[in-house]
Amino acid sequence: MHRLTLLRGLIAGTLLLSSVVAAPLEAQNAGEPLIPPAGLDMSATDPSTKPGDDFWQYANGAWLARTAIPADKPYISEKEAMRDRTEAQLRGLIETAAASALHEPTTVEGKVGAFYKSFMDAPRLEALGARPIRTELAAIRAIRTPADVARLMGDFNAGFEGTFIDFWIGADPKDPEHYVVTLYQNGLSLPDRGYYLKADFAPERDEFRSYAARLLTLSRWPSAKLRAASIVALETRIAKVSWTKVEQRDPPKLYNPMSPAELAAYAPGFPWAAFLRGAGLESKTRVILAQKTAFPKIAKIFDDTPIETLKAWLAFTVADTAAPYLSSSFASAHFHFHDHALFGIQEQPVRWKLGVRAVSGGDCFAGGPRDCFGTLDWAVGQMYTAHYFPPGTKKSIEAMVANITQTYRRRLERLDWMSDRTRAEALRKLDTYIVKVGYPDKPRDYSGVVIKDDDLIGNVRRAAAADWAFYVGRSDGPVDKSDWEMTPQTVDAYNGTLRDIVFPAAILQPPGFDANADPAVNYGAAGWGAAHELTHGFDDAGRTVDAKGALSDWWTAADAREFKARTAMLGAQFATYEPLPGLHINPELTMGENIADLGGLAIALEAYHDSLRSAPAPVIDGLTGDQRFFRSWAQYYRGKATEDFIRQYTVSNEHSYWPYRVNSGVRNIDAWYEAFDVKPGDRLYVVPEKRVRIW
Ligand SMILES: [Zn+2]
Repeated sequence: MHRLTLLRGLIAGTLLLSSVVAAPLEAQNAGEPLIPPAGLDMSATDPSTKPGDDFWQYANGAWLARTAIPADKPYISEKEAMRDRTEAQLRGLIETAAASALHEPTTVEGKVGAFYKSFMDAPRLEALGARPIRTELAAIRAIRTPADVARLMGDFNAGFEGTFIDFWIGADPKDPEHYVVTLYQNGLSLPDRGYYLKADFAPERDEFRSYAARLLTLSRWPSAKLRAASIVALETRIAKVSWTKVEQRDPPKLYNPMSPAELAAYAPGFPWAAFLRGAGLESKTRVILAQKTAFPKIAKIFDDTPIETLKAWLAFTVADTAAPYLSSSFASAHFHFHDHALFGIQEQPVRWKLGVRAVSGGDCFAGGPRDCFGTLDWAVGQMYTAHYFPPGTKKSIEAMVANITQTYRRRLERLDWMSDRTRAEALRKLDTYIVKVGYPDKPRDYSGVVIKDDDLIGNVRRAAAADWAFYVGRSDGPVDKSDWEMTPQTVDAYNGTLRDIVFPAAILQPPGFDANADPAVNYGAAGWGAAHELTHGFDDAGRTVDAKGALSDWWTAADAREFKARTAMLGAQFATYEPLPGLHINPELTMGENIADLGGLAIALEAYHDSLRSAPAPVIDGLTGDQRFFRSWAQYYRGKATEDFIRQYTVSNEHSYWPYRVNSGVRNIDAWYEAFDVKPGDRLYVVPEKRVRIW
């Protein structure tokens, strides 16, 4: 799986679907059941808080008070607990495979086992020091011309080098049956351009400078301190000309096709031909530029940066990408910068967890920007689903998503603010969605990937190269609609560019959905997740794609105006939220997710009501059906995070920090006011005409 998700489409992670998962076969933590009890955790309630004042605190307060963030994580949450269970399951499978793995195995399980063994052999890595990356460092030292630099940057997806220009192959947004190469601005080591430009991030910039100096020193690169300062200055120049994340939430603006010759004329100073050759894309006659106006500026920065600085930058990026697979000096420096300084994680996770993530791709959530790089993630996915994904789950989830889709269809049919013309296309688009559950139909072929139990860096390098070769190899053929962008072991779900709603096996486990829980609880979590993903196809970005999956404006001007007026009301609510003193939620950055949260809640609630077929909802634990539905949603999002994590999340993530998702969602839904007797004067109270209603 590739790290680049923001621009490859309208992908937006969410959650929660599930059904009963088979009893775990292996990897039980002593005494701790892998599957928690179903339903609502009533002991989480804070009875001293009125639901109408702070629903998040009311539903989760006691849990928040008694729960600590583990030292090796940036946060704790329900989803994180599901990740922990998945990781323990993977550990069992992978360690079993490792126990019998040959030195250079030929089977999928053997390769997974040997890769893990090569990671777990810490004494060997310690003895090797920087030696495993000496080939890369020697290639960088041998650079003579800017074209040599660009060629190595082109190796980005198959090697350890960084690049000023990222690239990926995906369905062409205006010709969705064919693949196209899209180029993106890149070149930043910190999480967002704001980290380079805002005064409050001075400590993070200092950490970055020390980190670069440390890695260059460990790599025996000359004048490490001086070069580290030039690297920070160089990236700061790139940050200044880079588009903001908000500017990038506009798919039509990210679609700028050019021939390689036109690109060279438009953005002179960067050796584009050498770059495309390095990437194996020299035969392409057409590429798409995403952040168009940034390209000539980045090319100019490349052109007037001394080649010694470019070489030092490349050496730093090689060491940065490779650090987790090298000796403890490298790995600890990597942890200190990416996980501790930027995320607030206190302790490095134990080695088996790192090993499982290295071979499986983990959940690709924390740490450096290239977490999913150079793994056997799809091979691990095959092993995971074979052991932990009962065949019956697929059917029950597909049926539930079909119900949610029907409810959404009915709501679209009666939506009072949309004209019949726009509505007709919206309904057509809704009908084209494909639901994918569990795992891909076609297994990835790993037969050509050489894995050795004593060559960790070589394994990562060969796995990354094979992954990129897979995408390049199919890029001239028709788009494979059965494709997946998340592995089965990922605890998340997405709405993708193929108009697919995808639920990996690992998210299909309790507590997200549990056949033993009552429907109100399941609709508040799993049902909400399905509805949330569906509405992404119609959010501020998703609405620019039509029923054929192509970029086109299918909205009448009046409907677009009305949609924007409603989303502006939602944005105005979010602009007032302040997760940390002085740090506000960015309503433009989070708009798509906020729309999907609200739509998901409205649709899932109606689907829940439909599921009752006019029978009264049972009162359980003293709560009505609607009360349980809303509590389930609040419970699903419960979690707490370090300040560093909240800061990074709020600056750079498209989701709002969890308490605001929950409180903002409920205060716009009339049924919540009735369910919890919320009255004027309560802090979350919004007068009915100011409640936002979109889907
Ligand atoms: Zn989402």
